[in-house]
Amino acid sequence: MKFKSLVELCEKLEKTTRRNLMVSLVSDFLKGLSEEEIEPAVSMMLGRAFPKYDTRTLNVSWTTLSRVISRLAGSHWSAFHQAFRATGDVGAAVQAVFERRRAANKQATLLESPLTILEVRKIFEGISEARGEGSREKKERLLEALFSRATPSEAKYLTKIIIGEMRTGFQEGLMENAVAEAFSIPLRDVQLASMVTGDISEVAYLCKKYGKSGVINLGFKIFRPIKPMLAQMAASLKEVFEEHGGKTALEYKLDGARVQIHMSNGEIRIFSRRLTDVTRSLPEIVGLIRDELRAREAILEGEVIAVGEDSKPMPFQHLMRRFKRVHEIDKIAESIPVELYLFDVLYLNGESMIGKQYVERREILRDIAGSIPLTKQMITSSLSEAEAFLKAAVEEGHEGLMAKRLDSPYMPGVRGRHWFKIKETLPPLDLVIVAAEYGYGRRHGWLSDYYLAARDGDGFTIVGKTFKGLTDEEISEMTRRLKKIVIKEEDNKVIVLPKIVVEVAYNEIQRSPKYESGMALRFARIIRIRDDKGPEEADTIEVVRRIYESQFYKKSRFYGEE
Ligand code: AMP
Repeated sequence: MKFKSLVELCEKLEKTTRRNLMVSLVSDFLKGLSEEEIEPAVSMMLGRAFPKYDTRTLNVSWTTLSRVISRLAGSHWSAFHQAFRATGDVGAAVQAVFERRRAANKQATLLESPLTILEVRKIFEGISEARGEGSREKKERLLEALFSRATPSEAKYLTKIIIGEMRTGFQEGLMENAVAEAFSIPLRDVQLASMVTGDISEVAYLCKKYGKSGVINLGFKIFRPIKPMLAQMAASLKEVFEEHGGKTALEYKLDGARVQIHMSNGEIRIFSRRLTDVTRSLPEIVGLIRDELRAREAILEGEVIAVGEDSKPMPFQHLMRRFKRVHEIDKIAESIPVELYLFDVLYLNGESMIGKQYVERREILRDIAGSIPLTKQMITSSLSEAEAFLKAAVEEGHEGLMAKRLDSPYMPGVRGRHWFKIKETLPPLDLVIVAAEYGYGRRHGWLSDYYLAARDGDGFTIVGKTFKGLTDEEISEMTRRLKKIVIKEEDNKVIVLPKIVVEVAYNEIQRSPKYESGMALRFARIIRIRDDKGPEEADTIEVVRRIYESQFYKKSRFYGEE
């Protein structure tokens, strides 16, 4: 195929913004290419001399290239700056130079034989191979040979490819569409293959050569780690439900280290999140996989956590000590036991799993995991169930939750909205107002500052105070209600019967001598008045203490205290 055809295609792409038209133009073009031409053509259309995975580079700077072109153009080089000012596009400016030159010397390019796509690639290869002494001259000679055979529009696109700025508006995503259309392969398979290999030009080649079967199992080489799928932070559980279509799978988010486990016929390797081989630091996990996994070949993902004697998760640094340790692994394995919780399966017995939906992968994982536990999970469409699950996760000493879209594929290396992480927020407390103070200024005459208490045996113990959260209207109504239940008046303060329950948010629970409970909520604010709850349903002081302790525990994990 002539390079000219690729150039004409690019010119058409530049003239339209209609995506469908672009895709069908490129797809038609791909159909006309031979096997060998596919990858170079796709790479070039995306502004690359070589495929992405290729380590070769041209290493040609604009200074070098412009020197070559100006030498070829002679006095016509002056057109460059003018054209560049007019278009802002280096390629278009080079084209203007070549047009000027052609107009002056009609025969110069007509005598040359036209460039083909494969020839252009071959010259690129020559340029990339030029190394050491005299390499600059060699590169320049090759560039000169290339450009001296180019028409003005070919010169434009050669320049664009060399400097890596195609600007036709035809990006990788659209190329995936075009490849799918050209070779009649489902778009989803092409997209997944492109994600795994990281390069659509390689995928295009495989589609042409092998059809669908060439790409559905693509990218998996046992013992070559795959980029992990990542999660986005969710603002709230409510947001998660909205994004995931009203129903989602929640999993405990364990605060450990992510591992990717590769197994083939009894040989096992474990990779860290950063894809380094940590097999030697985790002998008991290797043993566990060997004993339990019911598969011949598999790539799995899970989280490894260190556990204490109480079988609660231990500080993260303990785990890191395990990973850093190279010597006396057995000794440290005894003092810092670890547990593995699996959460995904990417590949199984020769078949890729990543295109399958989350729910299906999870089921398959359960089938092969033997006695190895999976991360604790629930599928729900209820916000209150989700909130309770989050609360439970945090109370058990975990970081929070992951929410996974039920029908989502595994997308290597992608941080999208299929997976959300839900940050731990301290659970709100239902507390009883036991006293109140009159406000100042605008709030003069209103009982606007409230003492909040938790249930303590038969009585109530104060754990905080707040004037935040209620509207003026609510404060005036609250004043009216409180006045009816006053037991005692002291200066600016009233003691009231413990009747009114409010839901309270706060940032942390501090140790404080201010109240008898010894604890004080920091930045407390009323979320709503819980008229549906009586004081006997308020949270107890034990609950407050538990949250206080769990938060302390979390902090120590963050700051490295023990
Ligand atoms: P982050 O590192 O904060 O972006 O959160 C994502 C990390 O949470 C992953 O890389 C895993 O190491 C970890 N994680 C813990 N539990 C799970 C789970 N159930 N599913 C997926 N990732 C998890």
